[in-house]
Amino acid sequence: MEHVGNKIEAPKLGEPYLLTPGPLTTSIAVKEAMLKDWGSWDKDFRAVTQEIRQRLLTLLGQGHEDFDCVPMQGSGSFAVEAMLGSFIPEDGKALVLANGAYGQRSAKTMEYLGRDFVLLDKGDYLPPRGDEVAKILADDPAITHVVAIHCETSSGILNPVEEISEVTYAAGRKLLVDSMSAFGAVELQPSEVHYEAMVSSANKCIEGVPGFGFIIARKDELEAAQGNSHSLSLDVHAQWAHMNKTGQWRFTPPTHVVVAFLEALKAHEAEGNVAGRGARYTRNRDVVVAGMRELGFETLLQNRWLSPIIVTFFCPADENFVFDQFYQLMKDKGFIIYPGKLTVVDSFRVGCIGQMDEHIMQQVVTAAKESLAEMGVASAAPPSAALEERAKLAA
Ligand SMILES: *Cc1c(COP(=O)(O)O)cnc(C)c1O
Repeated sequence: MEHVGNKIEAPKLGEPYLLTPGPLTTSIAVKEAMLKDWGSWDKDFRAVTQEIRQRLLTLLGQGHEDFDCVPMQGSGSFAVEAMLGSFIPEDGKALVLANGAYGQRSAKTMEYLGRDFVLLDKGDYLPPRGDEVAKILADDPAITHVVAIHCETSSGILNPVEEISEVTYAAGRKLLVDSMSAFGAVELQPSEVHYEAMVSSANKCIEGVPGFGFIIARKDELEAAQGNSHSLSLDVHAQWAHMNKTGQWRFTPPTHVVVAFLEALKAHEAEGNVAGRGARYTRNRDVVVAGMRELGFETLLQNRWLSPIIVTFFCPADENFVFDQFYQLMKDKGFIIYPGKLTVVDSFRVGCIGQMDEHIMQQVVTAAKESLAEMGVASAAPPSAALEERAKLAA
């Protein structure tokens, strides 16, 4: 299959666009790459595994030689659990930074692992800041690791990982990053941001299909992780050692998914790697945010914190607005949107990632406008409680 620069492939006729943060709309080439069966032990498949590991490492840019990439079966959360269980030793202690569902999930994972942690819970979306992290670390010398979420997909906020990394290492601690929904579209270069390990998965910004995640970690951390893991199947060190020795995954890999992922990585490269992919997603976001604001919608976040991954909009205050109806009307027009996750006010989310460009995003805005008209919603303005909520960010 040829790779033609920035070309966006529409989903097959009748398939809606997934405006969701993964699984997302993939290209025809990625889907077609799955039409063949592979022996997981065969050298051709081993070569595919080797190539995706190498390509992922290269995306780190300068300094990637100090890292290695370990693919792990399962959804993204399996890879997060593998990272936490493998790099935070039993006698370690984590500071988990949460401002949404994924930070909460990391804390929950630590609970299951039975490993010591403290939680900084910032609520639905407020960013954990460097100074507060520094203070917690100064007050608690037992903390060995900080766990941060890069883009907290539940609100769409891009957390200040650079700032968090700086204070973490200034205090002599180590940083682990859940970059699930950001990696591949937002830079996380070790030459710019210090960290020990990060995770992402096949079905986010690289635009593959779901089935595995990957841990990218410093080689010396991988070496030191031997014997830490609580789990046989999620042992990052064991997977790494086995893969380096035999070229194979320890247990059955999702072969079709892995081959489709290589296709997705080639398209990612053709688009200009992280910078190119990030630029398209940024245009997607800018078009949808400007268009929706024009309709009267308001974003949860101020511009500074808006990620190019997913955007949260407040539901309109108008009593004719019913989210389930809006969802169905948007779906009828070919767009699957995403319910919100805020606890205080009603919201919904629009993803900017996947095989979509600014023209599609313009159509999303038009579809929203038509859907509001069909529901008899005169104004998309949110309730005043929503704006009060947002004012907390400025405080
Ligand atoms: C998608 C995502 C995950 C993993 O979710 P799964 O449903 O297990 O794939 C973890 N963290 C973040 C920030 C995510 O966006």
